[in-house]
Amino acid sequence: MENHSSPAGTDGPESSGAECVIEGTGAAPGIAVGTAYCYDASAPTVRRNAIPPDAVEAELELFANAVQRAEQELATIRTLTPEAAEADAEALIEAQALMLRDDEFLRAVRQRIRERHESAGAAVQAVLRAHRERLETSADAYLRDRAGELIDVEKRLLRALRHGEVAAGIDSHSVLIAASLTATDLLRFSRYNLLGCVTAHGGPTSHLAVVAKALNMPLLVGAADALTAVSSGDPVILDGDSGRLIVHPHSEVRQQYRRRRSEQEASTVKVPDQEPVTTTDGRSITLRANIGLEKELELLSPYGADGVGLLRTELFFLAQGGGTLAEERQVGAYRAVVEAAGAAGATVRLLDLGGDDRLPRLHTGPREDNPYLGWRGIRMLLDRPDELLRPQLRAVLRANRHGPLRVLLPMVTDLYEVDRVRALLAEEAERLSAEGVPHDPDLPVGIMVEVPAAALQAHAFTDHVDFFSVGTNDLTQYTLAVDRGNDRVAARHSALHPAVLGLLVRVVKAGRRADCPVEVCGEIAGDVQAVPVLLGLGVETLSVAPQYLPAVRRIVRAVSYKETKPLARTVLEAPDAETTRRRAREWLETHVSASAAHE
Ligand code: PEP
Ligand code: MG
Repeated sequence: MENHSSPAGTDGPESSGAECVIEGTGAAPGIAVGTAYCYDASAPTVRRNAIPPDAVEAELELFANAVQRAEQELATIRTLTPEAAEADAEALIEAQALMLRDDEFLRAVRQRIRERHESAGAAVQAVLRAHRERLETSADAYLRDRAGELIDVEKRLLRALRHGEVAAGIDSHSVLIAASLTATDLLRFSRYNLLGCVTAHGGPTSHLAVVAKALNMPLLVGAADALTAVSSGDPVILDGDSGRLIVHPHSEVRQQYRRRRSEQEASTVKVPDQEPVTTTDGRSITLRANIGLEKELELLSPYGADGVGLLRTELFFLAQGGGTLAEERQVGAYRAVVEAAGAAGATVRLLDLGGDDRLPRLHTGPREDNPYLGWRGIRMLLDRPDELLRPQLRAVLRANRHGPLRVLLPMVTDLYEVDRVRALLAEEAERLSAEGVPHDPDLPVGIMVEVPAAALQAHAFTDHVDFFSVGTNDLTQYTLAVDRGNDRVAARHSALHPAVLGLLVRVVKAGRRADCPVEVCGEIAGDVQAVPVLLGLGVETLSVAPQYLPAVRRIVRAVSYKETKPLARTVLEAPDAETTRRRAREWLETHVSASAAHE
């Protein structure tokens, strides 16, 4: 963290403190000039005890919303509890649900808010604690056991209330500062027109970063100093391009950034570029878009995407307010996606739930010690075919008649997983026919290559899949044993590590031999320095966040495929990721004009 003395003549309260610069990692580009809002989600605590009399109605509403949110959480947990734990979980969930519907409890909380002007949190705590004390001192052992369950209800409600309070405190010029955030949190808070977001923890390929890019919101991660150096209300500039947060910026710095931001806004692509994307020596490259949010569909045409290469369905539905994953709703969603994607079609990735805490409401059962190695992606889908997998497959089959769709399986490790999904797909297609429901069974099936096992066995998968999509975000984390969401090791998470690239080559070769297309859809595909490396390794299709398409397109058109091949050879022989990155950067500097590389 650098400190600068404040110059004379700063303008107004915006720059009353000493300017300081906090370094982090830019995880989503862009500039935000605004006011900090510090969010502490760490513990479900009560932050205000009393409320002013004229805030009673708002507080009652906050409470009602929190109860509703808590009930939704329980319903989702019930749906996703593993079968083995169902009986135990059901009793606990039902006990909590009963409490949330208990008239006496609800009345007591409302009464304290209305008559004593207590905050909803304080009232919930007081009522539940009194109830708990009664149970704990009961002579009945069964009732004493029930006391512990009230702690869960209290925590759940306080957490739900905190979300409401945060929303109330955010104004439309806020830059959110937090120790850590999940992608879910960001989606929820984004409704309040956040300008940007800074976290002390987290990595640049986390789902938080994916969502920030989708929202077009600058994001800085790994900025631990922000927690101590920034207070709510401080004027700040967030520079997601260079990875800096400037607190109490000098007025001239603010001016500079405002200018840069206006320039960026003005240069946003408005003219669709549908010209073919070929290298200078005529190799054709397909550039598709990664989509996580419905509003990104509007970007496909202006940014000239050749269809959707990755629809992250778990984000898509969550961003629409979570809720049900009913088949009808999914059919409508995929239809909208494929219609926006046009003739090039769209790739629907089946729900990739679990892993990191991006969907905390869906986490259930005992906490997993290693969630990334746990109940995630295809594992969860195959364990819960009726709730999750079958409805999603049916929806894709039905939407497939509105335009070409493909289905993509997340976190595949084993051939069996593909065969099982194919069997279910055939069953559902047959069932739809028997029911007379229009659909198109001609649905290519591909896998995400993101677990080293799948890359190592790519040759064996070619008989079972129609295409590969290499997810370098996870492939890197699983190959290098580096948690993609942990800022302590973020610098070690590099898809340019020769070991990761070696696996990629293996997949490319297996695909080429079997005429099975290979695409790359991890964040590395949008990294301009990495693009020539990927081309040199033989990759012909890249899928990136729409905003990155213009830069990637410029690079592809500026390089010669023939010349990228020696680059690919030298990086594969590099000893480490740092050397690979340096070679890629130097290659770009010598082979591509500065304007194409940095425009
Ligand atoms: C990946 O792992 O590279 C990928 C594209 O999937 P996600 O980032 O959604 O895990
Ligand atoms: Mg992945």
